[in-house]
Amino acid sequence: MKHRLPLGLGLVLAAATAHSAAGQARPYPSGDVRETYARLLKQIETIPMYDNHAHPGFADDTDVDAMASPPDESATLRLREDNPEFVAAAKALFGYPYNDFQPEHAKWLADKTKVAEQAGGVAYFDSILDKLNVDICLANRAMMAPYLDPKRFHWVFFGDAFFFPFDNSQQRATTPDMGVYVPLQEKMLGRWKKQEGVEGLPADLAGYEDFVRRTMADNQQKHGGVAIKFEAAYFRSLDFSDPPREHAEAIYNKYRAGGVPAEGEYRQFQDYIFRVMVNQAGKLRLPMHFHTCVGIGDYFSLHNGNVLNLENVVRDQRYKNVTFVLIHGGWPYEREAALMTAVKNVYLDTSFQSEMLYPSQFKEVLKQLLTLYPDKMMYGSDAFPFNDALGAEESFWLAARTTRTGLAAALAELVDEGAITESKALELARNYLHDNAARLYGDLKK
Ligand SMILES: [Zn+2]
Repeated sequence: MKHRLPLGLGLVLAAATAHSAAGQARPYPSGDVRETYARLLKQIETIPMYDNHAHPGFADDTDVDAMASPPDESATLRLREDNPEFVAAAKALFGYPYNDFQPEHAKWLADKTKVAEQAGGVAYFDSILDKLNVDICLANRAMMAPYLDPKRFHWVFFGDAFFFPFDNSQQRATTPDMGVYVPLQEKMLGRWKKQEGVEGLPADLAGYEDFVRRTMADNQQKHGGVAIKFEAAYFRSLDFSDPPREHAEAIYNKYRAGGVPAEGEYRQFQDYIFRVMVNQAGKLRLPMHFHTCVGIGDYFSLHNGNVLNLENVVRDQRYKNVTFVLIHGGWPYEREAALMTAVKNVYLDTSFQSEMLYPSQFKEVLKQLLTLYPDKMMYGSDAFPFNDALGAEESFWLAARTTRTGLAAALAELVDEGAITESKALELARNYLHDNAARLYGDLKK
């Protein structure tokens, strides 16, 4: 591979090397990396965070997500309710007086949340952000809640329901999980129709396309939506073809009034509608968020959800004006995702990884990501209410702590290995934790 350094940079580099005792980066840290870690962590604690992806809300609020957990799903070790870190979270946030979640103890926590919920108002969730030094949080929810402060929580609405206008009985039957997901998509489509005053299905494809475009524009312009999110990886492959309109039109006309589309027909229709949404997102300057990561439920297809399936879309020159955000950073294909952010209009966040991976594991991820395209990487929590006692609050805490400590550790190693200076490390931290996202959504204060 041949790379040209920008003119003049070679000289600057030579000068820097001459001044520095460090010289070439080394495979092992010199000095005491734990001291560097402690110093960096202290500074990193003071940087406010911009959370690119979360599901804030109370446990009994069904709008926290457009989907629900499938029955009897397997949970990874750290996200099980007996993880002692959740006790630490409850102590740090609320002064929880117990050391476990025995039912009679957990009730203390559930009661406390209930009091906050009944009190109403936006102060409660604002206070959670304040405790964790989070500035703004994107709320990926079916609809927004009156108890979330619109100044701090910005809405990311869902686009997947538009994929399911026909008879979905075959879709529902594919896996037990789809039996849970698809009816929720039908419900969401019903809510969009009600919002836009659409009865049944429009008479022709043009009418359906108009309904889709109008919903997107209204969600952005009238309801404060800052991005559109796709959890399509839960339902189908992220590989979207580009079928001609007349194929989609024939399928629409055939199934608008009833009948079960064959799998291939349904997929082709979805691929077409997806392209309609990409074009509209470009016109509206509305970033598109994609779930790109392993998903919950035992039937989630790693193959379908692989971020590389999206490569034909995000590297498509026609979509240069569309911002794509790879939510959860593609994990376990996080390197593939990170390399896709070389495209100027592609970003990623590390939500969910920051909850599921322990700090030592997450440190390795960040060390890799921040040395690729650090101006494209963003913090995210994927905070979500687990149950009445363990809420989005503890989940916010876990992601924030993992991120601040994992980040300080990754940067400490890079500093002590001679790869970057300490001031460069803090610049990378500020961009990753806050400024990259704030810049992307127009919230960077001058
Ligand atoms: Zn999420």
